[in-house]
Amino acid sequence: MRASVILRFSSLIVTACLFAVACTGSAQAPLSIAGVAPAAGTTASGAVNIAPRSGDAGASIPFTIVRGRTPGPVLLLVAGTHGAEYVPIVALQRLRTAIDPGTLRGSVLMVHVANMPSFLGRTIYYSPADNKNLNRVFPGKPDGTLSERIADAITKEFIDRATHVIDLHCGDGNESLRPYSYWITTGDPKVAESARNMALAFGLDHIVVDGSRPTDAAASVYLSNTAVTRGKPALTTETGGMAVVDDESIALVQQGVAGLMRHLGMRTDGPPPVATPVWIKQNEVLRATQTGLFSAAVKKGERVTKGAKIGTITDFLGNVIEEIRATFDGEVLYVIGTPPISKGEPVAMLGSS
Ligand SMILES: [Zn+2]
Repeated sequence: MRASVILRFSSLIVTACLFAVACTGSAQAPLSIAGVAPAAGTTASGAVNIAPRSGDAGASIPFTIVRGRTPGPVLLLVAGTHGAEYVPIVALQRLRTAIDPGTLRGSVLMVHVANMPSFLGRTIYYSPADNKNLNRVFPGKPDGTLSERIADAITKEFIDRATHVIDLHCGDGNESLRPYSYWITTGDPKVAESARNMALAFGLDHIVVDGSRPTDAAASVYLSNTAVTRGKPALTTETGGMAVVDDESIALVQQGVAGLMRHLGMRTDGPPPVATPVWIKQNEVLRATQTGLFSAAVKKGERVTKGAKIGTITDFLGNVIEEIRATFDGEVLYVIGTPPISKGEPVAMLGSS
């Protein structure tokens, strides 16, 4: 009886295999997004379309699946969560053709522009469709505003299919930033340990130790934390800024992804992990208490002592109405580089090891 059941199952597996795309030397689970299902060893692209609702125009999320020949990790790379963060968007265009599916173990998913309304609308922080910050509305809502629906689609179509997630940011269009990554330490310690090793493998030499993320998967708020609260190691990385597309910052993304793919066993080559990172254990985002024009007194990467002037806010006539000062000895991870400032907005982020 048992033998005949086993035989029947074997026969079913063989029959299923005859029709499976992945039967050419691998047993990968199907990977299909919005009707795009590349065969093993090939790359294909498509778009997840968010239908218009409540008077908005909807949105399109362009993506690529690089499908390796053999089973392995599914690494999700997301660019353009903030629409004026161009370095990762351009880096993914280059990685799309640089990653050879023929020699890849596992798969790479790329979201090329997560926040299309903000990208085409040239807005920082907030979507022009609903004035919401996409990276504050995860895991999203299927019947919500446009940003919430985009977050919902990214969660269900991409994060749910991934085993590892990188949310690739840079300084926003107004942020002058030195490169760093965020390592989320909240949640499952095993996930946090994997994410720590991913941060080292990505190679940026400053790593912010981030113990402030929520642990509720239904209120994960941030894209990378949506993965972490679902038991998947994830990082947020920051390379470039001020709406500048520079090869140096793009190379940091390319090297980071290459190092990560080597670390995850997806490729045999790639740069080694960062040997002596600076672990940023204390950090603070300094915020404006006034609205007006901001002028920075420091540069990205500059070391400051407690009480040092970080910048000045004037009213629209030029009268000084606020001086922002360092709250501890540390390093300027980013500082706002353009004049507009509204009460409550960040002016700089300080970090200290
Ligand atoms: Zn960002």
